[in-house]
Amino acid sequence: MSNETHYSTAQLQAMDAAHYLHPFTDHKELGERGTRIIERAQGVYLWDSEGNQILDGMAGLWCVSIGYGRTELADAAYKQMLELPYYNSFFQCANPPAVKLATAIAEIAPAHMNHVFFTGSGSEANDTVLRMVRRYWDLQGKPTKKTIIGRVNGYHGSTVAGASLGGMSVMHEQGDLPIPGIVHIPQPYWFGEGGDMSPDEFGIWAAQQLEAKIQELGEDQVAAFIAEPIQGAGGVIIPPDTYWPEIKRILAKYDILLVMDEVICGFGRTGEWFGSQYYDLKPDLMPIAKGMTSGYLPMGGVIVGERVAKALIDQGGEFFHGYTYSGHPVAAAVGLENLRILRDEKIVEYVKQEAAPYLQSRIAQLAEHRLVGEVRGVGLLGAIELVSDKTTRARFAEKGAAGSICRDMCVRNGLVMRAVGDTMIMSPPLVITTAEIDEMVSKIWRCLDLTA
Ligand code: PLP
Repeated sequence: MSNETHYSTAQLQAMDAAHYLHPFTDHKELGERGTRIIERAQGVYLWDSEGNQILDGMAGLWCVSIGYGRTELADAAYKQMLELPYYNSFFQCANPPAVKLATAIAEIAPAHMNHVFFTGSGSEANDTVLRMVRRYWDLQGKPTKKTIIGRVNGYHGSTVAGASLGGMSVMHEQGDLPIPGIVHIPQPYWFGEGGDMSPDEFGIWAAQQLEAKIQELGEDQVAAFIAEPIQGAGGVIIPPDTYWPEIKRILAKYDILLVMDEVICGFGRTGEWFGSQYYDLKPDLMPIAKGMTSGYLPMGGVIVGERVAKALIDQGGEFFHGYTYSGHPVAAAVGLENLRILRDEKIVEYVKQEAAPYLQSRIAQLAEHRLVGEVRGVGLLGAIELVSDKTTRARFAEKGAAGSICRDMCVRNGLVMRAVGDTMIMSPPLVITTAEIDEMVSKIWRCLDLTA
């Protein structure tokens, strides 16, 4: 069998059912439907093996920032594979693309963040964070500072540390997580959990849960707070305006590290290079992945601020941590070319000045629909809350049913959106044009009609 051999859709589905265990998939459900085989893509469009054209409103898994089919990235990978397909970055070695990529990332990162530790994914980046944070406090002579505070419904990946730092109960139930030394505070999800509070009141309340938790545990036990600037997988949860300023106030009072998980928000999604800049935050560590290579090859990393970098470099001796593919030369060459395109084509500026204002104004119109309880968004992230009663914001009796119907209607009508329960979410490629945004929004309206 070679990759050149042609198979029909039915044959591929049968082979898939026989041999392929998929991530985050109910295989019984998959068996009834058959996998959708995506064969090719260009710009913001995908084509499946039946020839259907689908607008990718999720940029793959929030990652294909510069869109599909950019030959420059394929050329960069090809050239680097011939030059040096692999060599490790352990044991006093480096390769030119990884060195250049670390430098290029330091240039766009906040001024105090000048070092990058490379990983193969966002989950590995968060495993790295856990060990780096604890190592840092050991080096400070404060070994009791071990506990990391995350948030309920946060997502930081699917490895043991990533899933533990995240606050998804369904993930915790499988595998006896979280591991010790990780606790969670409520998320700033006003629409779902704000009750009678105004968004501003709720934002303050949710932020103050951090202070309450630090006081409950004791500052001398707490190592770090980890959060996404905007929760992605949890349902594009945009914190109320009061949330991050109050968190900043609390962090200034206590000596704990701030880890901003930029795996989704990084590399332009909010209209700034990083979500931390959008919210004017000064993190100590920023896990990154996804948009770093626009998903053309797997790669992640942790951008490390001066406080932690200095400790690791000056005091740390050897940090016994790393991955075979840390700083992989081909992935790094692709990452560099991706960054060049983001820069030279002024894509982040395009998001800020044109695409995001346009997307946000267009999706705001969906709030008129009788099924929609709230529309929210920042940059090229958006969420639509489906409700059974607009005025009371009452949910449907069967949680998630409306979301799954709407998601399926979208695919049938040529659009990928994700459903998180009854929250429809979007994260299109950063290069989406205003005409493509119009197409996306009119498809969403039609699918809402079909769901109602
Ligand atoms: N962190 C965040 C905020 C994510 O959204 C994700 C993936 O969706 C991850 C970490 C994990 O990244 P990966 O799937 O590359 O391991």
